[in-house]
Amino acid sequence: MLKAVPGTNDIFAQAKEYPFREPVFRYIVSTAEEVLRGAGAQMVYTPIFEYLEVFQKGVGLTSDIVVKKEMFVFEDRGGRLLALRPEPTASIVRAYNEHGMKVWPQPVRLFTWGPIFRGERQQKGRYKQFHQVDYEALGLSDPLLDAEAIALMVRIYKTLGLKHLEVKLGSVGDPEDRLRYNQYLRELFGPYAKDLSEDSRVRVEANPMRILDSKSERDQALIAELQPKPMLAFLGPAAQKFHQQVCNYLDRLGVAYTVDPNLVRGLDYYVRTAWEVHHAGIGAKSALGGGGRYDGLSEMLGGPPVPGVGFGIGIERLAIALEQEGVALPADPCPTLYLAPLDEAAKIEVLALAEQLRPKVNVEIGYTPKSPRKALEEALKKGARYVGFIGEDERARGVVTLKHLETGEQRALEPLQLHSLFEGPEIK
Ligand code: AMP
Repeated sequence: MLKAVPGTNDIFAQAKEYPFREPVFRYIVSTAEEVLRGAGAQMVYTPIFEYLEVFQKGVGLTSDIVVKKEMFVFEDRGGRLLALRPEPTASIVRAYNEHGMKVWPQPVRLFTWGPIFRGERQQKGRYKQFHQVDYEALGLSDPLLDAEAIALMVRIYKTLGLKHLEVKLGSVGDPEDRLRYNQYLRELFGPYAKDLSEDSRVRVEANPMRILDSKSERDQALIAELQPKPMLAFLGPAAQKFHQQVCNYLDRLGVAYTVDPNLVRGLDYYVRTAWEVHHAGIGAKSALGGGGRYDGLSEMLGGPPVPGVGFGIGIERLAIALEQEGVALPADPCPTLYLAPLDEAAKIEVLALAEQLRPKVNVEIGYTPKSPRKALEEALKKGARYVGFIGEDERARGVVTLKHLETGEQRALEPLQLHSLFEGPEIK
């Protein structure tokens, strides 16, 4: 029997693990959608694969995704390389440029949700296919948008019922600040390259900032010993002012955060604002979600300058956090009416009646004939308000026997009477 690829998951109501239960997914996506639409953002769906260059140029040649070959790359028939998206931002910026959104009133605020693919080694909370809700505000470089994005992200978590959040806010400066910082780190780590993990040894030349973010204990021990100065100490005046304004705006909005002078983010395209949201339940090393500003990304994709800021919320990891905080999900709606056939010939009568009443009334039916007692049990199990039977007698009289499950009241009703009953105020 064939099985799913390790690191990919089927999402359905009864899934054993909480993060893969469809109602949890639906709760997260619908809440995020409500918050983001309510704030005037517009939904966009981009393809889940693009030309490889979109991601290569977007995430940067030195990011883990490219260096560690975490992208799923394949060829189209013409031999052109395509990749499954390892993150949504580059696609959204590509779409913004492709559809001339630059002439729309700015900023253009877009959001999406869907699967993301990374060939990572499998561990809890880390999958090859996972899902993100993603928000991007494009076309304006103003710290107000950074503060709004952070506030919206926090609002999504809080609306879902999460309490123990920590927003870590930093700045990765402007490209020239990062150049200076990387040079400083290169000189600091260079002599100790042999003590670093294999991945980080490559980073000394390519992108030493990423060493600070390393999950390897070996690297973390060396970092503790060398005590590098933080990125924040290398900000130029413009980036410093921008960072201070984001802080001021968040203070004014009453959004709690802690400044993390060492915050670095996995993708190369970030400039200035970078943040992560952490949750005690999923461990200090993993973020619940993250975001940042990426003012140079559009140019990397061959487009005009388009500043932008946005965030990604990992759905599975968020589900783990919700489970750990014991957040109750909204109950699934129960059927209003459960209609059961008492004999073979009633099967189609039951379906025909259900189809007449749907979608106004939430009707479920029994698919095999059963006794009235069994049908009643089934209706109770489903949490229905009414159970209806059709058997030989009902067919002869052209009625349905309807029982109100709470009061026990039972009546034989003709279809028209049934319709008017369900039109009354009693039925929601
Ligand atoms: P990133 O795009 O790396 O900043 O990731 C944003 C968020 O996506 C993270 O904070 C996680 O919640 C989630 N995430 C990233 N990688 C994975 C993965 N391999 N499996 C599950 N969730 C992930």
